Amino acid sequence: RDLRVTGMAEPGDEDAVDLARRHLIQPWPFAGSVGHEARALIGEGDGIYITDSSGQRLIDGPAGMWCINIGHRREELAKVMYDQAMALSYNTPWYTMNAPSAQLARRIADHAPGDLSHVFLTTGGSSAVETALRFMQFYNNVRGRPEKKLILSRGGAYHGSTYLSASLNGRPRDRDWMDGADELVVKLSSPDPFRRPKGMSLAAFTDGLIDEFRDTVARVGAERIGAFVGEPVQASGGVIVPPDGYLKRIREICRDNDILYISDEVVTAFGRLGHVFASGDVFGIDPDMITFAKGVTSGYFPLGGVIISQRLLEQLRRSNHPDAMFGHGLTYTSHPIGCAVALKNLDILEDSVLAHAREVAPYFQAQLKTLEELPLVGEVRGLGLMGCVECVADRESKDPLQLDKNVGKRIDAHCHELGLLVRPLINMCVMSPPLIISREQIDDMVAILREGISRTMDDLRKEGVW
Ligand code: PMP
Repeated sequence: RDLRVTGMAEPGDEDAVDLARRHLIQPWPFAGSVGHEARALIGEGDGIYITDSSGQRLIDGPAGMWCINIGHRREELAKVMYDQAMALSYNTPWYTMNAPSAQLARRIADHAPGDLSHVFLTTGGSSAVETALRFMQFYNNVRGRPEKKLILSRGGAYHGSTYLSASLNGRPRDRDWMDGADELVVKLSSPDPFRRPKGMSLAAFTDGLIDEFRDTVARVGAERIGAFVGEPVQASGGVIVPPDGYLKRIREICRDNDILYISDEVVTAFGRLGHVFASGDVFGIDPDMITFAKGVTSGYFPLGGVIISQRLLEQLRRSNHPDAMFGHGLTYTSHPIGCAVALKNLDILEDSVLAHAREVAPYFQAQLKTLEELPLVGEVRGLGLMGCVECVADRESKDPLQLDKNVGKRIDAHCHELGLLVRPLINMCVMSPPLIISREQIDDMVAILREGISRTMDDLRKEGVW
């Protein structure tokens, strides 16, 4: 039996581009091209590589969307999917259950920090964040505090594309043309050390962020705030690594004010920072809930979830409303195929990939950092196997490049020609390769990125815009 995915450069691929232009709506489209757009057609994946429909092999720099953690074309995962589908492809979660979901919940709880003990499984990251938020609402309703529902979120955050999760998003372009539950959300600053005022020490910057948090809680009133939601490292906001101690201090303020701390580990969990969960093992915090998705199945199956602390569940059990129902469920909750894939993926991560990720991460960061030699680059930053190259018009003032120079997309276009897929974010390029990447492959990736940025600098000079 041939389990390989085929379809690259087959007759009919040109049709796919045409069909997409006529019938498919791509994610994050612009009004002027919605429903009329085709993107680079990918036919095959293998390890850290994908191959486009012209036959060109590319390093998958963003690992899909931060998710192909153990790499493409892992036969173990394909086989487990096949075996599980042949055994049981679905069961009705309303009144039945399957064994892989219970086993997965236990394995996840074993890795989770603090007293996080129970898992609700979803279909991805947005539904995980949505579940955590709705659980917070339910928790406070049942406990007789219906006014304690506001949610603290930060600039630069990305938490999803469902209504409530998207209401937390802090990147202006995500919200410019979209509505949200603004009355439920209070926004705080992004902990972005690169953008701190000139001359300010890191310690003073951190103190300022903590003061802002404390002042906001005092101003709004702890009795009205249900939760703080934060990514340990803001991913889509441009790999914003918070200053030392910041997350711990916020965790303490939340504890003191009975505000639930929801750590959104949709990107950082399952090895991206070298551990199954980063909250405890990297940042030393024990949140009330952790959301995860992506790397839990290395992107082979849509799955996510929320881990909830034992303490919260006990408080619910002891409440005055034991008959109150958490009116929340998804058809594909605890999907047996997704859970079987996640179990096998976790075996592979525990067996070798987590250790490998921890081992190569310093090399990855050091090599990326060499790109700071290039005058277009304002900063290279990152943690684990997350990295970001931020371009600026002027290094002294750190002026971000004008949007119309579209510098990330220009770099991506050059890199694509050279054999690397980049994730452009306006003036930034984000790199988060599959965790199995070797040192030699890191060298290739950085060499291509260097050349892509150099060619972009040449273009900008020729056009007289830089
Ligand atoms: N939270 C974070 C931190 C994310 O990065 C993302 C997706 N990029 C989400 C939530 C939403 O996940 P999904 O796209 O699987 O719904």
